[in-house]
Amino acid sequence: MKYTVSRGTKDILPEEMAYWHHIESASRSLFDLYNYQEIRTPIFEMTDLFERGIGTSTDIVEKEMYTFTDKGDRRLTLRPEGTAPIARAYIQHSMHKKETVSKLYYCGPMFRYERPQAGRFRQFHQIGVECLGNAHPFSDAEVISLGVHLFDDMGLSGLSVSINSVGCVVCRPVIEERLKQFIGANLQGLCEDCKRRFNSKPLRILDCKNPQCRAYFSGMPDIQKSQCHECRDHFNSVVEYIDSLGIPFNINPQLVRGLEYYSRTTFEILSEHLGAQNAICGGGRYDGLVSQMGGPSVPAVGFAFGIERAVMVLQQMSDIFKRKDPLIFVAPLGFEQQTKCFFLVDELRRAGIKCEIDYSKGELKAQLKQANKLQAEYALIYGETEAEKNTIVVKHMTKGQQVEIAWDSVVNYLKEAHGQP
Ligand SMILES: [Zn+2]
Ligand SMILES: [Zn+2]
Repeated sequence: MKYTVSRGTKDILPEEMAYWHHIESASRSLFDLYNYQEIRTPIFEMTDLFERGIGTSTDIVEKEMYTFTDKGDRRLTLRPEGTAPIARAYIQHSMHKKETVSKLYYCGPMFRYERPQAGRFRQFHQIGVECLGNAHPFSDAEVISLGVHLFDDMGLSGLSVSINSVGCVVCRPVIEERLKQFIGANLQGLCEDCKRRFNSKPLRILDCKNPQCRAYFSGMPDIQKSQCHECRDHFNSVVEYIDSLGIPFNINPQLVRGLEYYSRTTFEILSEHLGAQNAICGGGRYDGLVSQMGGPSVPAVGFAFGIERAVMVLQQMSDIFKRKDPLIFVAPLGFEQQTKCFFLVDELRRAGIKCEIDYSKGELKAQLKQANKLQAEYALIYGETEAEKNTIVVKHMTKGQQVEIAWDSVVNYLKEAHGQP
């Protein structure tokens, strides 16, 4: 019997890890710069939390949740996204009483039963931010700008923002009515999901991925025209702010995103490196979510992105990732020299110098071959001749040059060679 990972999951192997670390550390340092703080919520929560938070007529709740009953007969779900759990934690810990604005970020695995495809997995990882407590369009623009800043820091170029407004509780019924009038004529041509959502949540139809349905959406009435004054003013300000920040954007009236909690702003950050389905990050405002889940009325805005997709993009532009900490390969020749080098690598590592030694290789030729394979910057060669003179040979692997130095000076020599103090 052969075991493999479950469908839609993957092992993240060491050779991919540099990308993960790069994305995670770029995120952490930028979030810190914007004064966000990390929060970690459980992997599973009550199913009801997601049904209420994300909405029962979304693909996530209808088809994609990993839901199970535990031994105590509780209905639980592996979290499919991070915002509903954070809203839950925000309420549970009364964060609104401690601070007017809470700026939180998270990083961790999420679970959705989706058809696996390139960069899309059933267990995937998201990084996201939530800014709770500020209703001003500055807050939307700041969150969008943080997202763009982040991918820019990671080394992605060709970034732009796709933006829309889905209205608020006041104008949503008007938007939905206009949408129904438009879609109604073509209802028979739409898929079963769209037909079912037509009456209850017509806005969700715009989130349908079915190309046949999508074809009907062109020529759709501008939903912004049906919005209330406050929503239009809010949207115009957000657009104006991101424009003045120099962020390229386009207004996409069909952008509703697959979560019901959004109000007003919805946005995606696009990368020219991703092709047709080119969103690398998505988010929006969710002013109603906290109160809908039993908390106070607190406005909020946030975004999330999948690490796997970000890794995929970065791999296509791999030149940024060739750089690693230089490695020193220690090559002892003979048993006695091995023993001395065993202690030498310990000393080097304690001095912060990354090094490797292979005790199975005897011959110099095999040792240098191994050093090349590991892309070592230097090889330290220590044979009988050097032992007699109390020296060691430092060979630069790519330049081919070598120098013989006193055994005792090797740590300092390498520190200087690396430009360390
Ligand atoms: Zn409105
Ligand atoms: Zn459809």
